[in-house]
Amino acid sequence: MIYKVITKSEFRKFVSGLIRENQTIGPKLVDSDREGNPIYQFKEVNSFDEMDLDYTQADYSIKNFYLPFREELSRFDYSNSDWEQNIEYHVHPRVIVGVRACDINALTKLDKIFMKGNFPSPHYIARRKNTFLIGMDHEPLDDCFCKSLNQDVVRHGFNLYCTDIGKSYYLTINSSKAFNFLRNVKTSDPGKEDDRKYIERRKYLKKKFRTHVEVTGLPALMDIEFQSDVWKKWGDKCLNCGSCAMVCPTCYCHGVEENIEVNLKRSRKERVQYSCSIVDFAEVAGGHNFRPLKEDRLKYRFYHHYRGFAENADEQICVGCNRCGRACLAGINPRDVINDLRMESEE
Ligand code: SF4
Ligand code: SF4
Repeated sequence: MIYKVITKSEFRKFVSGLIRENQTIGPKLVDSDREGNPIYQFKEVNSFDEMDLDYTQADYSIKNFYLPFREELSRFDYSNSDWEQNIEYHVHPRVIVGVRACDINALTKLDKIFMKGNFPSPHYIARRKNTFLIGMDHEPLDDCFCKSLNQDVVRHGFNLYCTDIGKSYYLTINSSKAFNFLRNVKTSDPGKEDDRKYIERRKYLKKKFRTHVEVTGLPALMDIEFQSDVWKKWGDKCLNCGSCAMVCPTCYCHGVEENIEVNLKRSRKERVQYSCSIVDFAEVAGGHNFRPLKEDRLKYRFYHHYRGFAENADEQICVGCNRCGRACLAGINPRDVINDLRMESEE
């Protein structure tokens, strides 16, 4: 890791240069809600001023730029009693600016599945390798609990990370590409005063967290509480809409569809994002549903996040962004469900 300091005006010049040369995605103000709160989304931008790097939250993370809602995996052409498979990657170099630490950490968890897992996805790998990722620190929202999961700091998975130290950014450079790109602008080695400001900023951000979720020993607690009434209590409220999974930066459950043209000459295989909360997720051929109850569907989503992934990858898959809690119309959120489980075990 190499550290540099860049003034905000020079950073603007740096990012503007990247925007001129590459497809660039950044946080954009797109609307406001009924209470007048701003709505931000990661969108393609054509100039630095289109972005708002001080955005509060983006309801959707950047996951969908790596795992689109629907994507073609392959195409088949049948002719003369033979068939041919075509696999295409439509990936061009691109830049994503202003990504929060927890969302970068979410990507490194997805890397474990789609790059380093038993069945790597060439589509995901192509997108990941062709994206230059610039992260940026921020003040947590009142309901963020990424600090409880140790996901408020980022160690890898990005090219460049900016820590706001007033008139400049303290840059963490994590790739040779970032180092070389930065040669085109003015940066300096951090001095003692920059280091002091960096440490102060880190301490300040840590103190800003308002929500704590106790996750110590959570996998064991979930095993103990497998039959708990807590699952029914929250499961009964669930609408099975799947919104939690759609906004979650780490939910990756999907289905694979094969669409065959009526003339039987061509077919397409597509990956479609899905959610384990949706009624037919565990339905198999013949109509049997392995999880017909709402409480089971809710329970298994929580088990995947806080128990199953921890067993396989030695870490929980949740990064504590609470997007699922904000999106849920039934008022279900990880903090309340986990607190209920803890109370149950202490009774
Ligand atoms: S968003 Fe809420 S209501 Fe919808 S599936 Fe998820 S937990 Fe259930
Ligand atoms: S808080 Fe919710 S949306 Fe965020 S990573 Fe955890 S499960 Fe996913």
